[in-house]
Amino acid sequence: MDKIQLLINGEWIGKKDDQWINVINPASNETIAQIVRGNETHANLAVQAARFALKNSEWKSIKPFERGQFLQETARHIREHAIELALLESLDTGKPHAQAKSDIEAAARYFEFYGGMADKVFGDTIPIEEDLLNVTVIEPIGVTLHIVPWNYPIQITSRSVAAALATGNVVIVKSSEDTPLTTNFLAKWFHEKLPKGVFQHLTGYGSEIGAALTSHPGINQITFTGSVPTGIAVMKSAADNVVPVTLELGGKSPNIVFADADLARAVPAIVNSIVQNAGQTCSAGSRLLVDEAIAEELLEKLIERFNSLKVGPPTLQADVGPIINQKQYNRILGIINEIGEDAKVLVGGKAVQVEGYTKGFYISPTIIEASSHNETYVQEEIFGPVLSVVRFKGIEEAIELANATDYGLVAGVWTKDIDQAHHVASRIESGQVFINSYGAAGGVQMPFGGYKKSGIGREKSHLAVQNYIQIKNLAIQVKY
Ligand code: NDP
Repeated sequence: MDKIQLLINGEWIGKKDDQWINVINPASNETIAQIVRGNETHANLAVQAARFALKNSEWKSIKPFERGQFLQETARHIREHAIELALLESLDTGKPHAQAKSDIEAAARYFEFYGGMADKVFGDTIPIEEDLLNVTVIEPIGVTLHIVPWNYPIQITSRSVAAALATGNVVIVKSSEDTPLTTNFLAKWFHEKLPKGVFQHLTGYGSEIGAALTSHPGINQITFTGSVPTGIAVMKSAADNVVPVTLELGGKSPNIVFADADLARAVPAIVNSIVQNAGQTCSAGSRLLVDEAIAEELLEKLIERFNSLKVGPPTLQADVGPIINQKQYNRILGIINEIGEDAKVLVGGKAVQVEGYTKGFYISPTIIEASSHNETYVQEEIFGPVLSVVRFKGIEEAIELANATDYGLVAGVWTKDIDQAHHVASRIESGQVFINSYGAAGGVQMPFGGYKKSGIGREKSHLAVQNYIQIKNLAIQVKY
């Protein structure tokens, strides 16, 4: 059994008599590893080491272009171990191998992309008067905390860690207790290559070590991905220390399908947007808003596709894997079971027993035709393979419904009319709008983040480095 230790100040921490938490393979409900149940003392030690590493010349003296080269080397290291990493990610999350492989490639792309940016984050020269040279100097923000959820562990770790290291910060990662394996792989690499304390990996429960870290006055910045309630709790803790947060809190993202849409293109994208990673994706296309004129035709095609999907573990080359844990599995089935009598379950809606994996957490891909857009299952993130459908009449109603949730992360607009597409995109309250597509192969270069309760700040793209820098204005009076 793999025993995953904490990485604090260059040391692997975790003894036999520490408290350990079992890590479960959701495909089989079997224990695959153990992690240390990190506590407040571990959090304090990690922050102390991080503060020391930040000031220490060993890290400070590494030039930006050298940091960039190292991040590019990290990308190569990830690609060289892509098969091993994809297997680990599948084992830990239950996701299909094909998805895990593309997650590993996206992780490599983050290190490559921000490695390329490391020596290209410039300040400005500000014209004031002849004898006054005024410039902005870019400095690292300091000790950055990365709280990573369980749905895309290596991708989400890499997207913020790469941007933070590129800009000269030090990093503490708190993995979800459900999925620490691939971050542990990265921790081993950073342990070998970076000065101690620059990258530290902590595990344990969010409510324990997670909360101790977010409220710690030695942290300078927090990047959190997860639920709205936990995001609010993180933000409140950070507020006590006046620490900035980048929050990515999921969504209830719509695919809006107009009557003139090319359904041959739309159908596979709509299906993938909700069944990818068993619907446990922040940007999942979990609402379908469809023009009533084509609703029957589109639903028929979607039902056919949903019925053809194979549910099961990665080892059986399934299309849809398990739900991450018992708690989420029970939650999703509870939501499905509680939908009112006016709604119609068009397909799925049940727990699935997979032969040889009867203890795994499987749910069949589900389409619910909602009785009203106000229903809880249309409004709240279900985080499972469940698509809620609402019909609309006319462009105004489509826009109104698209904006009628607390979220605003992603939207898909399906129409052949470019004027209509642009008009809708301009009125949607959402951080990202896809027209005649949905999702984009990792999308490392594209800014990602939410309007409304979907979050604060932008990740991915060149903009994400802004989360990890401090700007100092420097005025030099020159007299000759
Ligand atoms: P949480 O938001 O509770 O957990 C996300 C991460 O935050 C985990 O690493 C968790 O650690 C950590 N965490 C939990 N509590 C604290 C805390 N007080 N301080 C600091 N860190 C904390 O999500 P859940 O896993 O409970 O999932 C519930 C719902 O959240 C899902 O159904 C989905 O709607 C949403 N979610 C959205 C994600 C997204 O990508 N936007 C990702 C995951 C969930 P630990 O796992 O150890 O508790």
